[in-house]
Amino acid sequence: MLDFTPFYAKLATNKLHDWLQTLPAQLAQWQNHALHGDFKQWQKVVSHLPATTISTLELSNAVQFGAPADISAGEAERIRYLLQQLKPWRKGPFSIHGIDIDTEWRSDFKWDRVLPHISPLQGRYVLDVGCGSGYHLWRMRGAGASFVVGIDPSQLFYSQFQAIKHFNPDPEVHLIPIGIDDMPPLAQFDTVFSMGVLYHRRSPVDFLHQLKQQLRPGGELILETLVVAGDENTVLVPGERYAKMRNVWFLPSTLALCHWLRRLGFKNPKVVDLNTTTLEEQRATPWMENESLIDFLDLTDHSKTIEGYPAPQRAVIIATV
Ligand code: SAH
Repeated sequence: MLDFTPFYAKLATNKLHDWLQTLPAQLAQWQNHALHGDFKQWQKVVSHLPATTISTLELSNAVQFGAPADISAGEAERIRYLLQQLKPWRKGPFSIHGIDIDTEWRSDFKWDRVLPHISPLQGRYVLDVGCGSGYHLWRMRGAGASFVVGIDPSQLFYSQFQAIKHFNPDPEVHLIPIGIDDMPPLAQFDTVFSMGVLYHRRSPVDFLHQLKQQLRPGGELILETLVVAGDENTVLVPGERYAKMRNVWFLPSTLALCHWLRRLGFKNPKVVDLNTTTLEEQRATPWMENESLIDFLDLTDHSKTIEGYPAPQRAVIIATV
């Protein structure tokens, strides 16, 4: 059984206490009925990670815990082996005692596009909806957030997060393995991030409303998602697949997104970044050996996906409530 009591103890004494009315029952139910077939194996891997002491901690420019000299060569081998059992590693990169987990995504590129535009995170309560394995949670903490919660229903991402947190058990950084539909409207977070999730939602306007319900009055939403060119009524709904992904629903224009946000009562939506994903940002590595962006694009024309749609272009939009 996983132990979420440290998180519940945090909730009991902070402004998120209302979450205790629903979360423990949901997580108990999840553990009893909804575990992935490989979850036990992933948990075994995490439990075998050796206890180490990190001499260094870098969260501002990268996510790096510890130096190579903190551990023996044998321990390094063991840690590398165990971490490799949690492949595919998609979001990162992480460096653990000098062991570099070179993930499919350079999630740091995204963070560099986002950070300059947001209200300083110093002292803030932050929620990251669809946080993946939690790379950005660490960068949010590094930027001064006082309490950082990520939610993501992927049990592999959760296990990867546990493996990383094992080496830096920061009591203010948490990943809870649930989806946004499982969250009560807390209206307490100072900043809510949701990056790379909206286009996976069948009801994107409802999703934006759910994000709004997590923010306190005056709080800030940071939304990052795939967009297409067009006016405020332009939305691309691809066929069965977009860039080989089956679960892609709505790719609006930035004008449409800002329009939706205003309709929902968000104030001042602003597009602060527009970026075409490069082969440097998303690629196969020894830690993620499956297909990646190069395989999702038209062979001869990288401005198109293999299905003939516009290649992935991503926007960062900031709005307040
Ligand atoms: N935010 C990270 C990861 C994006 S990948 C980044 O920008 O790099 C999209 C993530 O959304 C996946 O990890 C997926 O598990 C998660 N997700 C899918 N449905 C979700 C839901 N209903 N609530 C929260 N997260 C969800």
